[in-house]
Amino acid sequence: MPSDPMPRFAVLGQPVAHSLSPRIHRRFGEACGIALDYRAIELAPEALPARLAAFHAEGLSGANVTLPLKELAARACRELSDTARLSGAVNTLIRREDGWLGDNTDGAGLVADLHRLGVRLAGARVLLVGAGGAARGAVPALFDAGIGSLTVANRTAARAEALAHDLQSCGDIATCGFEALPGAGGFDLILNATSAARSGRALALPAALATAGTVAYDLSYGAAAEPFLAWAASIGIARAADGLGMLVEQAAESFQRWHGVRPETGPVLDELRAPGP
Ligand code: NDP
Repeated sequence: MPSDPMPRFAVLGQPVAHSLSPRIHRRFGEACGIALDYRAIELAPEALPARLAAFHAEGLSGANVTLPLKELAARACRELSDTARLSGAVNTLIRREDGWLGDNTDGAGLVADLHRLGVRLAGARVLLVGAGGAARGAVPALFDAGIGSLTVANRTAARAEALAHDLQSCGDIATCGFEALPGAGGFDLILNATSAARSGRALALPAALATAGTVAYDLSYGAAAEPFLAWAASIGIARAADGLGMLVEQAAESFQRWHGVRPETGPVLDELRAPGP
């Protein structure tokens, strides 16, 4: 009798060849004793709706979705989780009989990484810089974790206001443009959810945002996180981290939704942080 075919998963994006997700999910599978096939699939935005239907018909078991397809995927899914609906972005596709359930594990991944780092979220005054898809994904999870207050600052202030309006069911969200940041007060946690470093420009944030004990966290990782982490060091913030841990934690959340078990993240994160040969 033929054995069951290996379940197939993928990460969809453009470009996607650089994605660490196949490596992370293969390692999780090995550690949990779950055989799986996980690959990166390059997909143009205009092709997404038709390809999602085809992937379902072909028996794909699940997928991650990355830039620039997360918002489009939210519109193409048959059903959305509360988090995906609130954030308007999908990073995880879960197979249902009649189509895809879209979920978003980015916020849960961020909070899991902050907990792993020992950052106290209960009652924390949080500044979230950026109002794009990643910021939207973070907001519900931050409120679920019990933060005390949230200010969202964005280059385009109107986009921060739209975020606060759309996510008002999560909690009170103060908003401002960058020009108002010098008077915004001090924060326990400053999250950079912008892609500013990709455009080669460092954010010009005032030093007065930090108080003794402030933690700085960049959702980006690698070279893209360097300008923000350098800013944090330059104003004396002692605890700062990039978003590689978030990447591994959001992957663990997706893995759990697909396989019913949450893998240990520490060994994979250690491996990714280890210097190459
Ligand atoms: P979006 O394109 O949706 O949003 C980009 C945000 O960056 C907007 O708020 C935009 O402001 C701001 N921005 C862009 N350029 C500048 C600039 N020069 N100066 C100031 N602000 C700027 O991107 P995402 O929200 O999807 O992603 C944001 C970051 O988070 C990315 O670097 C991404 O890699 C990272 N991320 C990391 C994850 C992880 O697992 N570690 C998961 C998801 C995202 P404006 O509205 O004014 O244009």
